[in-house]
Amino acid sequence: MRIGLYPGTFDPITMGHVDIIRRACSLVDRLVIGVAINRDKGPLFDLETRVAMVEAECVPIGRACGVEIVAHPFDNLLIQCAADVDASVIIRGLRAVSDFEYEFQMVGMNRAMNDDIETVFLMADTQYQAIASRLVKEIARLGGDVSGFVPPRVVEALARLYGTAGRPRRAAVVEGG
Ligand code: ADP
Repeated sequence: MRIGLYPGTFDPITMGHVDIIRRACSLVDRLVIGVAINRDKGPLFDLETRVAMVEAECVPIGRACGVEIVAHPFDNLLIQCAADVDASVIIRGLRAVSDFEYEFQMVGMNRAMNDDIETVFLMADTQYQAIASRLVKEIARLGGDVSGFVPPRVVEALARLYGTAGRPRRAAVVEGG
């Protein structure tokens, strides 16, 4: 059984992530979506919410193509997390040259630590390639329409947070209180 790990912050999950997950389903039998706890990055959505959003979008995709998809929070080294979940392959998405530089270094360092785990890079469909969670949050905060970038459930979650006028209705939920 081939197990893949697709790690990220998913703050929040976007159509770009969903497209990569769909593509990854043709490569593995089980896909573990590693949701980085990432306290340092100060995520907008707390871990529980990010995991719930990932599961809501991805479990049905997996079911439709016979791949078991699970969300797995992690806070340790990526390569250690991959070993913990018995993944033989790490899936990453590539958007631009800027992603490439970072990923190139990551693969080199990860290989030095564990040469048995391969990293596979996938590109999203052209219409989703430019989407980044950071920009989605900024657009939503300023009252813009993000419905072309994130699934409807995430649009609703952002609207609950920011309100229609783009002003926060309540403080953003962040980890650690
Ligand atoms: P972001 O970089 O948008 O904050 P993550 O850290 O959650 O998102 O990214 C997880 C993985 O998904 C990374 O490999 C990232 O390059 C990839 N990814 C994110 N958005 C896209 C996209 N629009 N197209 C392709 N890959 C993407």
